[in-house]
Amino acid sequence: MSLRFPVTTRFAPTPSGELHLGHVLAAWEARRLADVHGGRCLLRIEDLDAARSRDPFVLQRMLNDLEWIGLHFDGEMVRQSERTAAYSCALDKLRAVGLLYPCFCSRAEIRAEWEGISRAPHGTPYRRYSGHCRSLPGDLVEEKLARGVPHAWRIDMRRVQDIIGCPTWEDIGCRGVQRCVPSACEDVVLARKDAPASYHLAVVVDDAWQGVNLVSRGEDLLGSTPIHRALQGVLALPVPLYAHHILLRDATGRRLAKRDQSCSIRILRDQGFCRQQVMAAVHSAIKEGGRCRLPLH
Ligand code: GLU
Ligand code: ZN
Repeated sequence: MSLRFPVTTRFAPTPSGELHLGHVLAAWEARRLADVHGGRCLLRIEDLDAARSRDPFVLQRMLNDLEWIGLHFDGEMVRQSERTAAYSCALDKLRAVGLLYPCFCSRAEIRAEWEGISRAPHGTPYRRYSGHCRSLPGDLVEEKLARGVPHAWRIDMRRVQDIIGCPTWEDIGCRGVQRCVPSACEDVVLARKDAPASYHLAVVVDDAWQGVNLVSRGEDLLGSTPIHRALQGVLALPVPLYAHHILLRDATGRRLAKRDQSCSIRILRDQGFCRQQVMAAVHSAIKEGGRCRLPLH
């Protein structure tokens, strides 16, 4: 595999709880890819969700645990909570070309719509926003905005496709070249009043700003990559390579839950495990398709 040099990867945790074995796998893999290709691995803290991730002690504990395990990163740590001006700028660009629309649906309304559809005969499981507010009459939209009705800003993926078509990206694992069909993506939320930028927008803006040219992350985010590729297209941002790693599973093959105490690094430390034992557990899980032997002994 020939990669663009120098390679820059990143580990981008959300500081919403204890560092766990899944984080260690993700961080180790991003570090490994950078090292193999003689590049850099950056650390980005995805702390945009104030309710879940602004406890400074939680972040400090995660950083201490990363240090303990011996994972180091290059350059300054970036915190997304300090980057909101960059996200607003990207939103303005998208708004200026008419790609955003306000969605006034509440979460409960969207859920009710899903339930109605999945109860319908032969209804397929439906978990995407239907695009209900995409075609609201202009005067109604103006009136709702003027009244201050709460809303989110969604991106119109059909218009995105009109502009950029169906671009490709490359997954350097076994997946190879992939094609993004924007109109098959959900009109995801890019911002709301209490959240200046959604995960999707912030990730794309920051990967470009930090010069990340190889995005290493878990397979759980495979479904987000077409959305990110579409956003890179309309924001005219460079397109990184992608590598999606396996996720850790328990003995029955179920994905390890963050709340599972047996995979918290803090608890493993308190139980007297050393970093070599923890890393050995992660390495053997990688060899066994993600299957992790827990509890460690
Ligand atoms: N912050 C995300 C997480 O904790 C990772 C985002 C990404 O790698 O794109 O799962
Ligand atoms: Zn709506």
